[in-house]
Parts: sequence; structure tokens; C-alpha cells
Amino acid sequence: MADFTYENPFGKPEEPSFMTVNHDPECIFCKIASGEIKVELAYDDEHVAAFNDINPQAPHHLLIIPKKHIPRVGDIGEEDAHLLQAINRAAVELARKLGVFDEGYRLVINSGDNGGQTVYHLHCHFLAGRFMRWPPG
Ligand code: 5GP
Ligand code: ZN
Repeated sequence: MADFTYENPFGKPEEPSFMTVNHDPECIFCKIASGEIKVELAYDDEHVAAFNDINPQAPHHLLIIPKKHIPRVGDIGEEDAHLLQAINRAAVELARKLGVFDEGYRLVINSGDNGGQTVYHLHCHFLAGRFMRWPPG
């Protein structure tokens, strides 16, 4: 894992608008966050981005990721606590954009193998558009 600071000499951030990241060059979500792999972003701000899950489990299934490479939710340090707020802000904006804020949606963060995590770059699943059963599998 390499740390680097990206400084855009032209002043305006490229798409997506990341500036300083902890970046793992092998990580698929880092590649999406850095723009190396191009995907349509449903949400993009300084800290987080959101895009459609490749294998959707609901009519709306997006992944909200921090631009910084943090493997698991439990790896969020004090200095990154704002990222949880940034993820929630993105979720609220997506819910309003998709018109599901009032009917409801589900946010899921899987952690570790028993938690069902398969990609070790923190991500929050945003699921909406159908009734969500409980308990989850
Ligand atoms: P996890 O199982 O780690 O909680 O969730 C990983 C999610 O990432 C899965 O829902 C999977 O479908 C999705 N995913 C894995 N690789 C890619 C990819 O390359 N692009 C997109 N858009 N989603 C991916
Ligand atoms: Zn990563």
C-alpha cells in the first residue's frame, strides 16, 4: 500500500474529485475512486463516491466508498470519523435523488469473512426499491 498526495496542477479536481488518498494499487475500489477504472458515479464528493453494484440485490443497489483505502469499517480511526458522516450524507442524497427517502432503504456494512465482506476496501451497501426482510441471511 502506498500513500501519496495528488495535486492537480490545474487547480480544479479531475473526475472523480479526489485530492489526498491512501491508495492500494491492487484494490478494485481504489481504482474506481481514482478514476483508473471508469464507472458512472451516482454520487461524488471530496471524501466518498457511490456507484452501482455489479451484482445488484435490489432494484437500487449502490456502493458508497471512501476515497481513502480503509480495509474494514473497524479500521476507521479517530482522524477518519468524519467518513461515517460523509457516507450517511451520500446515502441521504441518493435516497432523495431516487425518491426512496420516505419509503425507506437499507444500509449494510459487511466486515470480515464471517460478516460477508469480499472486497477489503470499506463500502456501505445502499439497497432500496423493495421490502427488506429481517434477519439477513
Ligand atoms: P461485500 O461482499 O464485500 O460486502 O460487497 C462487495 C460488493 O462489491 C458485492 O456486492 C459485489 O457485487 C461488488 N463488486 C465486486 N466487484 C465489483 C466491481 O468491480 N464493480 C462493482 N460495481 N461492484 C463490484
Ligand atoms: Zn482500496
